[in-house]
Amino acid sequence: MSNTRSIIILGSGAAGLTAAIYAARANLTPLLIEGVQPGGQLTITSDVENYPGFRNPIMGPDLMAEMRAQAERFGTEFLRADAESVDLRATPIQVRVDGTSLVTRALIIATGASAKLLGIPSETKLMGHGVSACATCDGYFFRNQRVAVIGGGDTAMEEATFLTKFASRVTVIHRRDQLRASMIMQDRARANPKISFIWDSEVEEILDTAAGKVTGLRLRNVKTGAVTVHETDGIFIGIGHQPNTKLFEGQLPLDPNGYIHTHDGTKTAIAGVFAAGDVQDPVYRQAVTAAGTGCMAALDAERYLTDLAHSRGAGRAAAASGATTRAT
Ligand code: NDP
Repeated sequence: MSNTRSIIILGSGAAGLTAAIYAARANLTPLLIEGVQPGGQLTITSDVENYPGFRNPIMGPDLMAEMRAQAERFGTEFLRADAESVDLRATPIQVRVDGTSLVTRALIIATGASAKLLGIPSETKLMGHGVSACATCDGYFFRNQRVAVIGGGDTAMEEATFLTKFASRVTVIHRRDQLRASMIMQDRARANPKISFIWDSEVEEILDTAAGKVTGLRLRNVKTGAVTVHETDGIFIGIGHQPNTKLFEGQLPLDPNGYIHTHDGTKTAIAGVFAAGDVQDPVYRQAVTAAGTGCMAALDAERYLTDLAHSRGAGRAAAASGATTRAT
């Protein structure tokens, strides 16, 4: 594997893999640094029903496996590791991964977003012991048990509906009295006889850290202040996501929630650095929009590289004729 690249892509979700398909088909032999847990959020999703081209639901991991194979078919090289650091201001851009320094003329950031947690100590202590942020990963362990799902968005509705395949009872606990989820997902959850709702309530504590397992939740009604205990065997946190942008802090402008700011398509504040998918999208966050922006990033990067090659060619010609030119 060469350490000097035209394009490096960070992230192997729908955005990164689509960028790889387009960059590879443009003969740019992209290197995709796929992380130690490749495939992005779709690998922890069950049925995907809204990705165009599939009349019947396709499982998230199967969709990602197809995308990866497609990117590989056109010559994408993959590295199963997390990028350790980047220097976006260097020319060429530097990426450190697996103790090795790589340089690249263009970088596509498609590092996605991760599940948010409630931020209470008992949640961390009981993670994996009844607390989870992924129903597809852990739902199976709750056969014939009672579970609670926190949140009122599409993630929470999807998790709750999925969990009814295993659990004896699913309780959605939401901090308001109105759901944020899309109507179709709300209707599906409301119509499911195994799902019930507790409104206007926040989780104060997950019980019981002393026992080392989940036995219940201490809830506080945000309107009345009343504190109650809800008995449950498991809790799934479905309250949204945060962008994976720690690597770029101090180098790229981020919005207050940490998302990368893009302009004119997928351009970032630094020439040659592009961003695609959930890492730059606090609004739509769909597999198809991630794939769409991945495609845009590859096209933007390809044009950037073409312009760079032209300006370097022009620079060499100008230098030969004695004129000065801007360094690239
Ligand atoms: P959202 O931001 O839409 O919803 C998050 C939910 O969690 C909200 O109801 C919010 O409450 C609640 N919440 C946030 N923080 C806390 C907290 N600290 N304590 C308690 N509750 C909290 O995120 P989603 O992940 O649900 O959805 C994100 C995007 O992904 C959306 O565009 C959605 O459509 C899409 N999506 C689509 C799916 C599909 O189509 N199959 C599946 C999953 C997601 P409040 O409402 O009060 O703000």
